[in-house]
Amino acid sequence: MSDTANRETHSFQTEVGRLLDIVAGSLYSNREIFLRELVSNASDACDKLRHGALTTPSLVEGDQEFRIELALDAKAKTITISDNGIGMNRDDLMETLGTIAKSGTSAFLENLGKGDEKDDISLIGQFGVGFYSAFMVADSVDVVTRKAGEKEAWLWSSDGKGEFSIEPAARDERGTTVTLHIKKDAKEFLEEARLKHIIKTYSDHIGFPVKLGDETLNAASALWTRPPKEITEQQHTEFYHHTAHAFDEPWLVMHNRVEGLVSYINLLYVPSTPPFDLYEPERKNHVKLYVNRVFITEDTKGLLPSYLRFLRGVVDSEDLSLNISREMLQTDPKLAKIRTGLTKKVLGELKKKANKDAEAYAVFWKNFGAVLKEGLVEDDGLRDRILEVSRFSSTSGSDLTSLGAYVERMKDGQDAIYYITGTDAEKVATSPHLEGFRAKGVEVLLLSDPVDEFWLQHVPEFEGKPFKSITRGAADLDNIKSDDAADDKKDEDDTPTLGSLIAAIKLELGDAVKDVRPSKRLTESPVCLIADEGDMDVNLERLLQRHGQLQGGMPRILELNPGHAIVRKLAERASRDGACSDALLQDAAHLLLDQARIADGEAPTDPAEFGRRLSTVMENAL
Ligand code: ADP
Ligand code: MG
Repeated sequence: MSDTANRETHSFQTEVGRLLDIVAGSLYSNREIFLRELVSNASDACDKLRHGALTTPSLVEGDQEFRIELALDAKAKTITISDNGIGMNRDDLMETLGTIAKSGTSAFLENLGKGDEKDDISLIGQFGVGFYSAFMVADSVDVVTRKAGEKEAWLWSSDGKGEFSIEPAARDERGTTVTLHIKKDAKEFLEEARLKHIIKTYSDHIGFPVKLGDETLNAASALWTRPPKEITEQQHTEFYHHTAHAFDEPWLVMHNRVEGLVSYINLLYVPSTPPFDLYEPERKNHVKLYVNRVFITEDTKGLLPSYLRFLRGVVDSEDLSLNISREMLQTDPKLAKIRTGLTKKVLGELKKKANKDAEAYAVFWKNFGAVLKEGLVEDDGLRDRILEVSRFSSTSGSDLTSLGAYVERMKDGQDAIYYITGTDAEKVATSPHLEGFRAKGVEVLLLSDPVDEFWLQHVPEFEGKPFKSITRGAADLDNIKSDDAADDKKDEDDTPTLGSLIAAIKLELGDAVKDVRPSKRLTESPVCLIADEGDMDVNLERLLQRHGQLQGGMPRILELNPGHAIVRKLAERASRDGACSDALLQDAAHLLLDQARIADGEAPTDPAEFGRRLSTVMENAL
């Protein structure tokens, strides 16, 4: 019986109130997911207590058999979901069900309305607000709960209309009972057959028995302990959703039992869409660690390298100690063994997939390639394996290429793997630096992930071929045979003498450039900027400047296209007497430098001067 004198009423935190309005008023057809959410919470509560009992065994004294019980009362029109998990005390209730803002609430609200309603609401669990889905089918909800190890029990009730109440209650044992007072239009859920079917569909993978009377409705064994052949695709999907708080389909399932010095089972999933926190600075892992079926941690440091943080699922080992602290676990050599085994396994599976179905692999690569490439910097030991499964855009076409395939296509006389880096894939693909390589049919890798600059510092070569930036150092295209031998010849015949022009530009630009020289890499544009051989590459410098890790930069080498009409005419002009004091040549020198900067996506050195010079030159031309 409730004790009205001690009842406290509270308003829901504003955003929870809004969420409830939407959920309660929804005509969403797939309302059955409320049961998945409540059973999932009950299962989490059992997991938490089982974990807590490792250090405080008295918490489970007298009742060690975790279970989730459903009950139906057609007359009273109620469904109850009970568990003997960890339970909640008053503070827990206040914190979890109502007043304290949960980050997921607003994220979920934002997400609502983006897609169609069906998808939107089923995402509720992903945002950590699954409990409130109860209000899709219930007019009001009562939660009676008692925390393990405590004596008091509490009743939380709400009709989902802005307020909830908390008051002392009675419960003989630890755990939580959620009672749903079913809405008139949701009577279908009061049918036993319907409930059984829902449990089978969504909650079969739950590791605790879900019972209705004497009958256990689910398989009640942890999914990963079952023989892989017996697990259906649907069960994998449901388990993945439950364990990862995700709602896409797994792109890849890896389920293995490894026996050895350290034995373990892994059931890992690669998502088909990128999780939202992929690029957060913590680079947290999300694979759950179990020791002999007992849940230990969600984000065990040391279980997997950060560059595999897109993985979801569980790893369960009997060989880790249950009684050591999480901190000590991180440095357990057995955990390191598991980590190595898992990492190799994952890379091996990715390789298989990449070889089998390039198109499907391209989807994975687009989602997670940039994360995986972090491993090229961090994991010396497995670098070659990571390179093997890495894919790149290149000038050879729209498909991604492997490094192996690139090397096979290398031209006679080509001794390096050419690449260009930048922050914008489209700009990289149209950079003037590529012109000469395109003309000669020499393939260039187009790299536009920020991490590319960094792994290239660590990976000098692939299969004996060095990586070479086409925006740094000399372009040694002369030794490479182009498809059309006449082209090679033409280049040499056509080169005009640029000596005087180069001298004039150098004089005018002074320290603003490191050198001025004829270019071998340009065929259409008049100019480009190049980093000197020993200097930092252009894109890396820009990247470091943007992150405030570098101030200023090295002067660049300005390369002139000897075949370009502007360059030819300027060269002629410079060869005439007294050209050094020619005002037009002086303006042209600055304009050429600025043009090269602009082609690289940078601003002119001095925009006002740039404007003035451009006007003068145009005026003279008109
Ligand atoms: P999530 O499960 O993602 O945390 P929910 O909205 O489903 O989000 O649940 C909110 C919180 O309420 C849970 O994190 C948990 O702390 C608490 N809770 C809900 N159901 C139970 C339960 N049966 N036993 C113990 N705690 C529960
Ligand atoms: Mg939940």
